[in-house]
Amino acid sequence: MSECIFCRIAAGEIPADIVANDDEFIAFRDLHPLAPTHVLVVPKRHLRSLDEIEAFGDAAAGRMLRFTAAAARSAGVATSGYRVVSNTGPDAGQEVDHLHWHIIGGGPLGGMV
Ligand code: AMP
Ligand code: ZN
Repeated sequence: MSECIFCRIAAGEIPADIVANDDEFIAFRDLHPLAPTHVLVVPKRHLRSLDEIEAFGDAAAGRMLRFTAAAARSAGVATSGYRVVSNTGPDAGQEVDHLHWHIIGGGPLGGMV
């Protein structure tokens, strides 16, 4: 059994509030939301962070972008707007060492970036 919490969610071993799901990716609501809508997009293949994206391949990386936009639509924030963030490494405060993108929205987000 994997030690990685996102691998375990992707395998269905840990429950999650799933927003979108296909063979390669899963999107589910963050346990500790930072905004009214806060969804995580996770590839089912384990990659440590965005820094390993080359190992994923251009086609899969492109599909992850497409999946992310579809997940934002499913979460109901495509029209109102949202932000996509990927914490990568210690200075970004990455807590879970499995590549993931945060989709945050559901209200004005301010000017963080
Ligand atoms: P990061 O700092 O980018 O690594 O963010 C990891 C995110 O995963 C945090 O926002 C956590 O709240 C979230 N998280 C951790 N465990 C779970 C879980 N079991 N289900 C949903 N979200 C989780
Ligand atoms: Zn993993």
